Amino acid sequence: MQVQRVVLNSRPGKNGAPVPENFRLEETTLVPDLKDGEVLVRTLYLSVDPYMRCRMNEDTGVDYVAPWQLFESVDGGGVGVVESSRCTTCSEGGVVTSFNWPWQTYAVMKGSVLQKVDPQLVDGHLSYFLGAVGMTGLTALLGVREKGNVIQGANQTMVVSGAAGACGSIAGQFGRLDGCVRVVGICGSDEKCRALVDDLGFSAAINYRKEDVPTRLKEHCPHGIDVYFDNVGGAISDTVITQMNKGSHVILCGQISQYNKDVPYPPPLSEEIQETLQRKNITRERFMVLNYMHKAEAALCELSQRVKAGQINVLETVVNGIENMGDAFCSMMKGGNIGKQIIKISE
Ligand code: NDP
Repeated sequence: MQVQRVVLNSRPGKNGAPVPENFRLEETTLVPDLKDGEVLVRTLYLSVDPYMRCRMNEDTGVDYVAPWQLFESVDGGGVGVVESSRCTTCSEGGVVTSFNWPWQTYAVMKGSVLQKVDPQLVDGHLSYFLGAVGMTGLTALLGVREKGNVIQGANQTMVVSGAAGACGSIAGQFGRLDGCVRVVGICGSDEKCRALVDDLGFSAAINYRKEDVPTRLKEHCPHGIDVYFDNVGGAISDTVITQMNKGSHVILCGQISQYNKDVPYPPPLSEEIQETLQRKNITRERFMVLNYMHKAEAALCELSQRVKAGQINVLETVVNGIENMGDAFCSMMKGGNIGKQIIKISE
């Protein structure tokens, strides 16, 4: 059968922004002769995520993901349906997901790398398995719970950077649900600011591209900042940390502002910011969702329930067609998405 797939065509270099031309769409022939343990899957939705940027380098610089190889199929989070199966645990018609789904319209995969998922968990909204009821939701929920020290009734203020993105939009909602009296989001457009306040219940939002972040933070956080969910790093985070209270907590989730630079992860802080952290006894431990997979099942259950109950609102930006994978990835890296960036591959 003829299938389409996306390969890595070139690398942007450690110090370059990715461009859609780094990816190439190919037609290829797939022989669906399944061996024992294999399944043929049809791809429904694919995910593009910031961590993929390091996979574009020859060396990712981290031990938990491998670099993509030039001219080979790119892979990442995906969800699809089993078309035919020679695997005892995957039945035809079942919905499955994987963290290593090839960017391909159909693929032969080992059943052992696929997780079966129940469409009822997301009321049939299968792309949520890549976002709010998948890795993104887990990152937000477990990040807040494991590193945030949010306490009901403690009158805490939370700030979220990258707040209108996939993780940030959910993290802020959990901050509120778990007891923060004030949740302020920082993001890159007025439209995103409106969505945070009107659709997601944030107390306030700051557009870092056009507003003065230190001034606006002082206005919106008159009692200082107790919890900071950091998705971006760089100058925005330095500003937030400067306004944090004694004994407060940074959830070090990601540092996307530094991903197109040749710096280690997490990128080093200035002496001044390190001194602030020390003087104010602010915790800033690295959070890695993959270290908490033993808590994933219960957390996914909570995410599913809260989404179904309307306690967590989900935002997505969906584009159609495998030919748009590279565009969608590059757009997400520059802020083109509100909520989770999803690519719909087939019905
Ligand atoms: P998002 O949906 O948040 O998309 C990325 C967003 O980052 C863009 O929409 C853009 O929004 C913002 N951004 C891009 N460049 C900059 C910049 N220079 N300064 C400020 N903001 C910028 O992606 P995810 O929710 O998937 O990921 C968010 C963060 O969480 C990333 O840092 C990622 O690496 C991290 N992460 C960490 C995990 C963990 O286990 N620790 C797991 C999953 C994700 P805007 O318009 O606001 O600029």
